[in-house]
Amino acid sequence: MSSRGVAVLGSTGSIGCSTLAVLDRHRARFRLVAITGGSNAPKLEAQVAEWRPAFAGLVRGSGPGGAGTNGIACGREALLEAATHPDVDIVVNAVVGFAGLEATIAALRAGKRVALANKESLVVAGELVERARREGGGELVPVDSEHSAVLQCLSDRSAPISRLILTASGGPFRDWDPARMAGATIAEALNHPTWRMGSKITVDSATLANKAMEVIEAHYLFGLGFDAIDVVVHPQSIVHALVEFADGSVLGQMGFPSMELPILYALTHPERLPDAGVRRFDPVAASPLTFEPLQRERFRAFVAGIEAGRAGGTAPAVFNAANEVAVAGFLVGAIPFGRIAPVIETVVARHQPIPVGVLADVEEADRSARAAATELVGASPWA
Ligand code: NAD
Ligand code: MG
Repeated sequence: MSSRGVAVLGSTGSIGCSTLAVLDRHRARFRLVAITGGSNAPKLEAQVAEWRPAFAGLVRGSGPGGAGTNGIACGREALLEAATHPDVDIVVNAVVGFAGLEATIAALRAGKRVALANKESLVVAGELVERARREGGGELVPVDSEHSAVLQCLSDRSAPISRLILTASGGPFRDWDPARMAGATIAEALNHPTWRMGSKITVDSATLANKAMEVIEAHYLFGLGFDAIDVVVHPQSIVHALVEFADGSVLGQMGFPSMELPILYALTHPERLPDAGVRRFDPVAASPLTFEPLQRERFRAFVAGIEAGRAGGTAPAVFNAANEVAVAGFLVGAIPFGRIAPVIETVVARHQPIPVGVLADVEEADRSARAAATELVGASPWA
């Protein structure tokens, strides 16, 4: 494998920093060509000083399209410029939320490999992303640990999958009663038992909206109907996914919870590179491994997400937007944890889904759902 150019979108975040840690161990194989951050200028500047990438951009910097300090570009266009940079072969999209969508599409249209952490791209516009991949000749490789696990189980691509089982840790409230969960504090929601992640996905993991998004993500990545994708709660987060074949045989992928391994695999797929930085597996230390059913009645955001995925069209984009607004509202103390799911349910129920033809369809669904959710969050009485 010759040296490949990499862009890391969202380089200042949890996945972005893990990606740089992986790249640091493989400097002979990969060159960091472009990085972008959302708003953390000091961190981005430190990364620029260390890596000297050809391009760096700060999306929420001073004014659109302007040049910031230290040669760092500013504004939304910076994401697209990094995603389509001519020296870039692989785009790691580690932006959080709807904001990552355009860059995913642009990179695939430019024929790049997209190592996709930004699952929201597939949730809100799975069909458009797939079309961009097909037409641009790009390649879509998941970073999400569950989907990386599935990909790693598919060495024999001629055998069709009969069922996927995605594992879910169950989050911090797995065994809390509903009343206690409804009043959970921000600190409690951010205290994930097995993963250290950005705050939005950590709250999504507490409501299990994240797992619904992952089911939609798997639907698009692996071309499976919703009836063929199951979720099981596995509190230890050691088995990342299970793949069942027609004869009933099941393959799984295991490892201690760390995103560095799926990030590395998304860069090297279908090859593997030796990496001494990943903790070696120890089945005894990982024991016991347990599995339990997901209690749907307690995780209504999960149910709303699956229903939106099944409805298709603009429904998943509406689900995603309502979730982003509700989670942001919870994180600033505007609504209690127990209001997140009702806000999503109300916004999704009011929406009449239409088929997605072009990006503007998704953008309009996103915009109107954000407005509706913002109103509900503003009107929420604090319990
Ligand atoms: P994070 O909040 O730690 O980082 C997000 C990054 O995106 C930061 O660099 C931030 O500056 C940037 N950003 C935020 N808003 C932006 C905007 N409007 N425009 C451009 N850039 C923006 O989040 P994270 O935990 O690293 O998650 C990133 C993505 O990866 C999410 O889609 C998440 O669901 C997915 N993911 C994360 C993990 C994990 O372990 N952290 C695991 C699986 C999937
Ligand atoms: Mg995941």
